[in-house]
Amino acid sequence: MSYVKEAFDMVKRRDPDQPEFHQAVWEVLETLEPVFESHPEYRDARILERLTEPERIITFRVPWVDDEGQVQVNRGMRVEFNSAIGPYKGGLRFHPSVNLGIIKFLGFEQILKNALTTRPIGGGKGGSDFSPKGRSDMEVMRFCQSFMTELFRHIGANIDVPAGDIGVGGREIGYLFGQYKRLTRKWEGVLTGKGHGWGGSLIRPEATGYGQVYFLREMLASKGEQIEGKLCAISGSGNVAQYCAQKVISYSGKVITMSDSNGYIFDKDGIDEEKLAWIMDLKNNRRGRIKEYASKFTGAKYHEGKRPWGENCDIALPCATQNEIEEKGAKNLVKNKCLAISEGANMPTSPAAYEILSKSGILFGPAKAANAGGVAVSALEMSQNAAFDEWTREQVDAKLDHIMTGIHKQCSDAAAEYGDEGNLVMGANIAGFLKVANAMMDQGVV
Ligand code: NDP
Repeated sequence: MSYVKEAFDMVKRRDPDQPEFHQAVWEVLETLEPVFESHPEYRDARILERLTEPERIITFRVPWVDDEGQVQVNRGMRVEFNSAIGPYKGGLRFHPSVNLGIIKFLGFEQILKNALTTRPIGGGKGGSDFSPKGRSDMEVMRFCQSFMTELFRHIGANIDVPAGDIGVGGREIGYLFGQYKRLTRKWEGVLTGKGHGWGGSLIRPEATGYGQVYFLREMLASKGEQIEGKLCAISGSGNVAQYCAQKVISYSGKVITMSDSNGYIFDKDGIDEEKLAWIMDLKNNRRGRIKEYASKFTGAKYHEGKRPWGENCDIALPCATQNEIEEKGAKNLVKNKCLAISEGANMPTSPAAYEILSKSGILFGPAKAANAGGVAVSALEMSQNAAFDEWTREQVDAKLDHIMTGIHKQCSDAAAEYGDEGNLVMGANIAGFLKVANAMMDQGVV
């Protein structure tokens, strides 16, 4: 049996009930075979067994009191996965579907993604099965304070630096940071995605979506194509989707869809800056549902319970959640001659869907490369905090663009070097893996 299969069998045997984690691990391991052929020393050092086993997992009870005076109990967790190249870094997800397998899949992805950014950050992820949806600001605050009352003893600016993810935006980061500061008496860059004016970096809210589009631009340029005039189907309407749409519009692409977990809207005239501003207000302030768009703008249609991949588009930009492009969606994208996919969400393409897409010759930007802009600017936020400095929008955006262009080059170069030119999935996995594996080799068996 090959080393890769042996290591993967061990992962499945240890935690048989974590399908998302298995999926994320296999998507990486299956592309690493050529690396072990030329580097048997990694096998001798059992790098894969160590890379797939978190350095530390913390789970804890989060009790809090709702507005009716009822006691609620959620589960919190933080997976400190790998610190070979820097402090653990990765977001917190608050969503009812959160369990250890999902946090481990996200944390594992984060290790290689963070390596690709070229910043000194290790991999981690955390969250809770708490849903902020439908909760008042005061309930969210009490939950965040209780969550941090346990988490604070495990994190620190040079130890573990959480950020946002699904269900955790600027509001939640504010409450979490306030409680950390109160408990520790320290003002330090322990969380990223902070508000501008109290340590947050300009461009951090925009970074994941903007970076995803910079990556897309590079992929298209490698084939002599550009974003201008292309029909772009976006899923989601949260942080990543909003700024992905904004950047596509700025490059004169036409955004035709956005969605939430109830369904998607299709606008044949395109979602322009003004309509996007309305969506941002709907989602960020009024906390409403995307279907309201269809009542507001004539010509737009709402499709309940569906995803946008059946629409005729040139470019697909999944920005909602894992496994949101399934077999049927992939077949539709191929049938409609979609040119490129740049993943904003983490692991949005199911293995069966990827199988179809990879055979079709579609340009495919995998999440760990294409959505690395968020964590890259988080690392820039850490640099600014450590230096008690603040950079301008233009400075941060230029660095983000430079980092994303560099990530695309790293992925292309690694794919070519290991014999599968243009395979950015393989390239991202290999480039990220080599950086982490070499650091682990240098640091001995720890
Ligand atoms: P938000 O919570 O801001 O938005 C999430 C969006 O996805 C919402 O529109 C939400 O709809 C939708 N969604 C969530 N769950 C599902 C589901 N099961 N089915 C369909 N739609 C769903 O999160 P983000 O924009 O921050 O994150 C989106 C994705 O991007 C995630 O995969 C995240 O891990 C990834 N990501 C985020 C980064 C960041 O910087 N924020 C960085 C890198 C990756 P609804 O409102 O109905 O729940």
